[in-house]
Amino acid sequence: MTQFFKIKNNGHFTEELPVDESLINSPRQVHNACFSNVETKQPLAPEMVHYSNVFIDELGIEINNSKDNLGLLSGANKFPDFSPYAMCYGGHQFGHWAGQLGDGRAINIAEADLNGTNWKFQLKGAGPTPYSRSADGLAVLRSSVREYLCSEAMHHLGVPTTRAMSLVKTGDLVPRDMLYNGNVKNEPGAVVCRVSPSFIRFGSFQIFAARNETDTLKKLVDYTIKHHFGHLGIPSKETYLTFFKEVVAKTREMIIHWQRVGFVHGVMNTDNMSILGLTIDYGPYGWLENYDPGWTPNTTDIQNKRYRFGDQHEIALWNLMQLANALYPLINEVEPLEEILEEYKNSYLNDYYTMMTSKLGLYNINNDTDKFINQLLANMEQSEIDMTLFYRELSSNSYEDFNSFWVTIQEVSYLDDDKLDIHKESWMNWFSLFADMIENEGVAENERSKRMKAVNPKYVLRNYMAQLAIDDAEKGNYSLIDELYILLLKPYDDQPEMEKWFAKRPDWAKEKVGCSMLSCSS
Ligand code: AMP
Ligand code: MG
Repeated sequence: MTQFFKIKNNGHFTEELPVDESLINSPRQVHNACFSNVETKQPLAPEMVHYSNVFIDELGIEINNSKDNLGLLSGANKFPDFSPYAMCYGGHQFGHWAGQLGDGRAINIAEADLNGTNWKFQLKGAGPTPYSRSADGLAVLRSSVREYLCSEAMHHLGVPTTRAMSLVKTGDLVPRDMLYNGNVKNEPGAVVCRVSPSFIRFGSFQIFAARNETDTLKKLVDYTIKHHFGHLGIPSKETYLTFFKEVVAKTREMIIHWQRVGFVHGVMNTDNMSILGLTIDYGPYGWLENYDPGWTPNTTDIQNKRYRFGDQHEIALWNLMQLANALYPLINEVEPLEEILEEYKNSYLNDYYTMMTSKLGLYNINNDTDKFINQLLANMEQSEIDMTLFYRELSSNSYEDFNSFWVTIQEVSYLDDDKLDIHKESWMNWFSLFADMIENEGVAENERSKRMKAVNPKYVLRNYMAQLAIDDAEKGNYSLIDELYILLLKPYDDQPEMEKWFAKRPDWAKEKVGCSMLSCSS
């Protein structure tokens, strides 16, 4: 069989961590084990929808549409000498402890050292596991297209993320009640091959702390430090604290990136928080169009909007607190953990305002910077300004006078001109401050524009763009997936032939299911 890479052994994760002794593949509680061995489900008629040639090149491997490759990437065949497995973890869902969750529909199919990194390969939607609870272990094409395109888009935006290598249609039909309103439809099934140096989550530690399985907890923490935080050295109380501190920093950096590009994760449960600070589990995520810090795309969360755009840093902190609780049995001291969490608040604000000033092409932060930025954000919210268009236009144009700036505001606002006029004065106030600051900094126009374009993407995977690709894919046409994939390889470049994607959300998409409203059903 042609394989796209060779695997020498089962890899670190399975060799160094405790295994579930049972092979019964039905929902059950798994104790004192980090993973369970499982087999993938046989897909009915697998078909390659797309694969990420850029990522494959990065890995230094080759993939094609051959039956062998398709077999491996759909779960029909397995890598010789590798026992597929599902990972055990728990988590807080929407603020409540949910007990054991685990890989209910993700199965690790390989681990390999490629180009200097140890990568884990995982099929999402490849069948049930002991962690599937009452669900089927499968994934549908619409959510798989979303995960596939967005993982790669995020990577090319410079946002830490798990990667996606391939998207395969399984040929199976999967029943789903998309809006949880009793309307069940059979949808095409699909499998995404996700790839990451690790799929360990906050919830991976929480489950052992919650069950007082401290030995297993320690094994997992020591393993994580050894393989992913190796520079910290031999495990000790001090090492555990530094480990926590580094996870806090990585998480903070990830959230800052989300705020920079306008990404709303939608389900920041602790089982969806990567220990490496990677964006993981693309479900009902979305991209801000009109700037609205209160927005979440997740209809399941519409009551409380717990995971709204503007609160993501607070939720990350809450999740980090849960991680601190999980690590506590190895540290047995509250204060140093609290200090690290306390530090997060200051560092976050500091990094956030630094990032925001860079979006505006400003480099000097002073005591009034936060006020100035908050005034901008209030204006953007009230005037329903398209976030991506606004920052990119600001990066491209020189604004000698307010009038030319106001024309841009009119172009990037979702409000009619008469409604927008109400906000003209506050924009004028903000603009005069902005113009003064730009002048004071004295950076050459070209240089400023270049720096701004490097942090303000021109193209993001707007909610309606993914939906258009899904609508076509469900009819068997995958060309838009390819077009968006290619577009999003270079999100910061002007791509004149792709100008149609540098535009406001069309009216039809405002309230359309799949565009502004998504549920966890996937
Ligand atoms: P999520 O909200 O997608 O992160 O999923 C939360 C938990 O539900 C995880 O343990 C998933 O593995 C599990 N899960 C979600 N969808 C399915 C499914 N279709 N079949 C089995 N488990 C699932
Ligand atoms: Mg999850």
